[in-house]
Amino acid sequence: MVCQCRFCDERFNSRQLRDKHIKDYLFYPCLTCAQKCNSLTDLEQHCKDSIHRPPPLAPETLDEQLQLYLQGAYYLEKVIVTRTDRRRARIFVQDFLKKIMRNVIRQPNGRMYSQIIEPAGSTSTQTKIIVADEFDFNIVLKETFQQFIHSGRTVVFDMEHYDFEPLHQRIGLRDLFPNEKVVVPNGYVAPLHRNNAPPNITRLSYYQQFIPRWVQEDLYVKIKNALDEIDIGDLEVRLKCYPNGPAITMFIKHIPGIDHEISIDLSASIKTNIPVNIYGWPREETEDVLSDLQIAKIEEAGIILVPKHQRFWYISFSKAITSLMQFIDGANECRRTCHKVLKRDFKTWQSEPYAGGLKGISTYLFKHHLFWINEEKFDEKENYWANQNIGQCYMDMLESLAEKCRAKHLPNYFNIQENILENKQTRVLNKLAKFCEERRLELLHIHMR
Ligand SMILES: [Zn+2]
Ligand SMILES: [Zn+2]
Repeated sequence: MVCQCRFCDERFNSRQLRDKHIKDYLFYPCLTCAQKCNSLTDLEQHCKDSIHRPPPLAPETLDEQLQLYLQGAYYLEKVIVTRTDRRRARIFVQDFLKKIMRNVIRQPNGRMYSQIIEPAGSTSTQTKIIVADEFDFNIVLKETFQQFIHSGRTVVFDMEHYDFEPLHQRIGLRDLFPNEKVVVPNGYVAPLHRNNAPPNITRLSYYQQFIPRWVQEDLYVKIKNALDEIDIGDLEVRLKCYPNGPAITMFIKHIPGIDHEISIDLSASIKTNIPVNIYGWPREETEDVLSDLQIAKIEEAGIILVPKHQRFWYISFSKAITSLMQFIDGANECRRTCHKVLKRDFKTWQSEPYAGGLKGISTYLFKHHLFWINEEKFDEKENYWANQNIGQCYMDMLESLAEKCRAKHLPNYFNIQENILENKQTRVLNKLAKFCEERRLELLHIHMR
């Protein structure tokens, strides 16, 4: 006898197996605090004990139930940052960085950094979740470059023999680049400076090519000096910079008026006039979902270079991403909400004891995935992204993300040649896929009555 689950269509060889499956996934959410209960009795007891809204009387459709749970409870209770916390944290971080950069600029050769500290990542897209505890900023360099060596061209650099030392140690030129040739990878460039560039640029260059690793190291040392010199009061500050990471991370504790640790990612960045369409964006499908004006705004946002590779600068579309994130939703649409709910779920998955932190996965890839699914769903029913349809949208998002992880293929939205999952561990990607699949199944088995 084959038994089917009426919630997710899965088939089982016996009624017992099916009933066990339903019992495993079924949940009753509290619509006030989003807590999940295993039975209606538990939920009623919970609502009574905590004086929370009782379960709704009328049975609703799956869409209605999911909207009530995801948007009405989960989003409000577990996802959004409280406004006072966000404001306080933001003011603190900006003041603190200003103080540091004022000192950095006064150090020898410090004038190559401008005073401009630009919000990046979720700091700039305002998709921060839970508490305002992580900030991303770019420190803009004064120098601009007119010439770049692009992907495909050969330059001198030996990666095999080059073993990076801890960042606080200065690495000699000769050890760095024995005379071997490599190709600039897709998505990267080597900026070339002028013959008469100032010494604060040439000292971080090799054959007129500005070396990201040295810039990052230079900035790291200067921030360290600044922290030693400025008055930080009772703050406890730790500074980290991993040789292969794109950013210098600062962890700050004991901030007056803020009851959690804050981490700030800082990255040097170079402004460029490299066009956003360098890799063929916008595609035909893009023009279906974005207006000419929106595309123009994204192009205007431009490209910056950031140190993601030791030898070559990464062509970063982060400003284009920020721009697109800002107008991706029309009125009463739910893409951003879905994105933030996913980020929140991801945070939960990361803290599962067996998840091992989902090493190497960052929410950066969720943004690219969102842009792709936005194009893929263009032909879907009208009002697909409407708030009332959030349950379907979110479940589709989870399903599609799981597929991309299992296939280990998710192109950069602005550069389809770049697969942003390429260097991720297959084991970790499969784990992430599993979390997505499980969460989707769970949502299909939501109960209210
Ligand atoms: Zn089922
Ligand atoms: Zn509750």
